[in-house]
Amino acid sequence: MIKDDKLFVWHPYASAVDKNPLYAVEKAKGVYIYLDSGKKLIDGMSSWWCVINGYNHPELNKAIKQQVDKFSHIMFGGFTHNPAIQLAKKINEITPSSLQKVFFSDSGSVSVEVAMKFSIQYWYSQNKTSKKKFLTVKNGYHGDTIGTMSISDPINGMHSIFNKSLLKQIYVAKPEDARLYNKKTSKSLQQMENTLKKLNSSIAAVIIEPILQGAGGMRIYHSDYLVQLRKLCNKYNVLLILDEVATGFGRTGKLFGFNHANIVPDILCLGKSLTGGYMSLAATVVTKKIAKSISEKAPGIFMHGPTYMANPLACSVALANLNLLFSYDWEKNVKSIETILNDDLEKISKNKAVKDFRVIGAVGILEMKEKVDVGSIQKKFVQHGIWLRPFSNLIYVMPPYIISKKELKFLMKQLNTVINMEYKDL
Ligand code: PMP
Repeated sequence: MIKDDKLFVWHPYASAVDKNPLYAVEKAKGVYIYLDSGKKLIDGMSSWWCVINGYNHPELNKAIKQQVDKFSHIMFGGFTHNPAIQLAKKINEITPSSLQKVFFSDSGSVSVEVAMKFSIQYWYSQNKTSKKKFLTVKNGYHGDTIGTMSISDPINGMHSIFNKSLLKQIYVAKPEDARLYNKKTSKSLQQMENTLKKLNSSIAAVIIEPILQGAGGMRIYHSDYLVQLRKLCNKYNVLLILDEVATGFGRTGKLFGFNHANIVPDILCLGKSLTGGYMSLAATVVTKKIAKSISEKAPGIFMHGPTYMANPLACSVALANLNLLFSYDWEKNVKSIETILNDDLEKISKNKAVKDFRVIGAVGILEMKEKVDVGSIQKKFVQHGIWLRPFSNLIYVMPPYIISKKELKFLMKQLNTVINMEYKDL
């Protein structure tokens, strides 16, 4: 398998002749991944934020199987179907009432592209055609497509080679670390306000990942920053797009990142855990006001329509996944994961190789002093029966919400052992 893979397959964030080890997966169930070598791993990554309810869940399997027997796909232009309608209704039910219309697409990056296009067309419909730029913060990450790269951190991001080919957007300082934030002295807020004051006539929207910046550095910032940002967007007549592709559906301890601040975005992007890791599906949700304005001004249509838009299999499993999430006390599970992550990372952070640790909800982050050798440390993780995938100088844990205490304690114990092995010479 691996030989053929090396010949024919390209992996994410990798070279075509990647030397790092690859692990072939045979099956997965609950929090366990079974390799074809016979090795069993506890998943500490939820397959990049997605698998909140565990792998191979009978309820989710059932939803997909039932839909397969009806129809797996149908074009969404001119047709509709129950899975899409029920899912859009469910998203409406769990989001603030001003958010109304759901535009489905097939990945988080596309949901952000769609949000950007909605913003530009909203201002066009308001006869403010100069408002077409995006203002964002450093260390953000919103995807890998050309449009989303233009609003992801230009230096720290994974995209620096492409900088000269991208649209020029506007960047201000990243929000201060939550532990250092002070509303009165916040330089990042000050910069945000100064920029909005000066450039609001050319800015369509501010875009940000609420409460936790993910792939741009796994940084937690203060909820009051979001409160102030919402006020500034209102004051300077700029839309607020919240990218909840990673933070949505409970990961940070609240259903959405914006629930930490009790604010409402104008446009909301959802993806990743929407389907519980079963299929690729994303959604961009806009307010009634935006939908009405765009639809009333000629041409009145929104020119975007992914071929697999609102795929019925994906919508069915997403609906089942959300129903499953609300069928148990997920908040209690996330809280209990948070407590263990806090306790155990504090102990692990005594290792000299660790610079800092931080936790929010079911995300625990170890910031190391040096860049981590992913290939080397991952080999040890696998030998020790756990699955983690660090990037840059960050080793982070974000298990499925259904992980038991015993399983999480095992994961953390093995993480500690591996860190002591990997950095034994310090
Ligand atoms: N926004 C955020 C905050 C993300 O973390 C990601 C993915 N890592 C994306 C957008 C892009 O999503 P996708 O990979 O599904 O295109």
